[in-house]
Amino acid sequence: MILTLLRYTCRDCSRILLPTARIEQYCDRLKRLGKDKGPDVMRKKLKDIITASKSSGKCPHCKAKQKKIMLEKPSTFFEDDKRISPIEIRSRFEKLNDGDIELFGLNPAAVRPEWMILTVLPIPPVTMRPSITLETGERSEDDLTHKLGDIVRINQRLFENINAGAPEIIVEDLWDLLQYHITTFFDNDVAQLPPARHRSGQPLKTLSERIKSKEGRIRHNLTGKRTNFSARTVISPDPMLGLSEVGVPDIMAMKLTVPERVTEWNINYLKEFVRKGPKSYPGANYVVRPDGKKKKLTDDTVEASVEELQPGYIVERHLMDGDIAMFNRQPSLHRMSMMCHSVRVLPCKTLRLNPAVCFPYNADFDGDEMNLHIPQTEEARAEAELLTLVGTQMISPRYGLSVIGCIQDAISGNYILSRNDFSMSKSEAIDLLASVGVIDVSKLPKKDTVSGKEIFSVLLPDDFSFSGRSRSREEPDVVIKSGRLVSGVMDKNNLGEGSGLLLRNLHKKYGRQFALDVLGKMFKLGIAVLMKRGFTTALSDTDLPQEAKLQIQGVFQRAEQDVTELVAQYNSGRLDILPGRTLRETLELKILEVLNKARDETGKIVAMNVESYSHTVVMAISGARGTPLNLAQMAGCVGQQALRGKRIENGYNGRTLSCFRRDDLSPEARGFIKSSFKSGLKPAEFFFQSVVGRDALMDTALRTPKSGYLYRRLANALQDLKVEYDETVRDSGGRIVQFVYGEDGIDVSKSEGGVLNIKRVVSEVLEK
Ligand SMILES: [Mg+2]
Ligand SMILES: [Zn+2]
Repeated sequence: MILTLLRYTCRDCSRILLPTARIEQYCDRLKRLGKDKGPDVMRKKLKDIITASKSSGKCPHCKAKQKKIMLEKPSTFFEDDKRISPIEIRSRFEKLNDGDIELFGLNPAAVRPEWMILTVLPIPPVTMRPSITLETGERSEDDLTHKLGDIVRINQRLFENINAGAPEIIVEDLWDLLQYHITTFFDNDVAQLPPARHRSGQPLKTLSERIKSKEGRIRHNLTGKRTNFSARTVISPDPMLGLSEVGVPDIMAMKLTVPERVTEWNINYLKEFVRKGPKSYPGANYVVRPDGKKKKLTDDTVEASVEELQPGYIVERHLMDGDIAMFNRQPSLHRMSMMCHSVRVLPCKTLRLNPAVCFPYNADFDGDEMNLHIPQTEEARAEAELLTLVGTQMISPRYGLSVIGCIQDAISGNYILSRNDFSMSKSEAIDLLASVGVIDVSKLPKKDTVSGKEIFSVLLPDDFSFSGRSRSREEPDVVIKSGRLVSGVMDKNNLGEGSGLLLRNLHKKYGRQFALDVLGKMFKLGIAVLMKRGFTTALSDTDLPQEAKLQIQGVFQRAEQDVTELVAQYNSGRLDILPGRTLRETLELKILEVLNKARDETGKIVAMNVESYSHTVVMAISGARGTPLNLAQMAGCVGQQALRGKRIENGYNGRTLSCFRRDDLSPEARGFIKSSFKSGLKPAEFFFQSVVGRDALMDTALRTPKSGYLYRRLANALQDLKVEYDETVRDSGGRIVQFVYGEDGIDVSKSEGGVLNIKRVVSEVLEK
């Protein structure tokens, strides 16, 4: 700013270096632009305007010759080769008139340019730079105090030297040093200056460092804060926990505390905690007296504290089973990212959760970390429990289906259990049910052998009826009549998260506590079945009989012939061009079609010939993990590798790799992988797969932060829209955004997957 002002004003008369007419013209323009935009626009324009109109190097007002102004950063100004003193600069600025100042983007009512050269230095009060007394009794001063000390010292020396008539060079050096100290007092990170340091070599933290960057006041202390009574560590799964429990390591439980007020009814109970102290569990870390004084419990103070304890005191006892905690995983994208759990104190060092609640948190166990917060007041606990307990969050507000469901082994297990071929002796079934916490087994039929469906039915309430669909081709219709699973298998469609209506209906009819409880039992039952039966996945699961292999080869031979025929048609110009495509694009599309059909056919052959009770297949069919396509890729053929929706084209001139002939359009030269994963890929095939693999990896790596930012902007734009009592959606200014919420008035959280199932409503009414 100082440089601009010096350069574009006259050194003699301090007018702006523009003819009067132009100045008036720009002043008018400034007025037209108004107070908001004007100064900004002018500041950007001014430099260009003056550079353009400056020709003679003479002032248009007083005709004085102008000299070249240079800045030697950070704070020394030269006019031609002579240094200009701050005093000189200040006196030039004092002469600037208000109208000219405005053209530089300054508001003369609020600021004068000469104020940029200090004549006095404001000293911040000690509250802003408190001195610390160390434990050793040593006093340590704040960085700002150190800096101010430097300034005062050098200033005094400068004063004495000037008074004593010291040589100019010494005075000038001291002057520079004073300037250095003042500059670094404001900003200790100036590019051209070495930062001022402590004797230890660590840079001083002065004014601007206190404010800016991640460690500054704004990002560190205002936008984000650290909280007490919180914990963070790696998470791991524990299917034996309840759905709304969280496993807390015992060492955490001894640091996190819950305040409990002493009354005459609980005094003996709380005395036990105090007696145990901070080192044994469950003990207490602090005792707070009625006057608010906090006392730390140590081995020495325990006895006295137990004696002292009386109603009105508060004991900060260790975290225990059944306490309430908020559990959170970032990024917190929806309200289910932060839910209330009840604490289970466990050995080991990770936070544990039931794998069924992975989905709402979007958590997995490849090193994910999560945060735990312990509410400290009755109000906070009540609010957390009523509004955010896992049970209250079961139905997603986004699509009205359960966001908590069985995953992985729990799905495979229930699938195996509910298949028609499953049966076991009644006593085994009772063991199984007992192991998941079902005590009442009176629902089991009175015979020696019971079917899997009968075992599963024990979990269902007697008056529950349901009809739905499963993924299975043999038993697509799921029918539950009066609490008995009559037909259909239990798979991801019914038990999984975000799909199917079984959980939704249980929740609707029997409430969240029951739904959550049943889901927990189903989850454990699934795992228990696998434990009893054994479950593994093997290479031989994808073995194919010889005739199936021959069939697959046949499919490829036919596909290859088709492609060769297409290429021949293309070369001879006989190929029919698809509308809106070039000849080449048509060929590519048709080839892709043929090859994808071939892959699908091999998929079908694999599905028909692979041992359908093998566990790999069970996982794919039940939806626990993997797809039938994955299976086909392992057993039959990997298929065409598509890069951005096309066959692979790039590489060498006219070919993908040097081992192919130029302009070879055959499948294998353009990324078709004939081999299966099990048989292994040929070198060229491996290369093609890596091409696509890397592209997918890059794509996800780049898309994640981009979509995150997009989401943030959307959420910020929508955050203050709400549904008013007249059912319109309005913004904070009362402007109507939608006349009816969602344009159809559906409360999605009460719908089934976003739509109203009229058929079901009608049948339910008829039933009554
Ligand atoms: Mg992860
Ligand atoms: Zn002049």
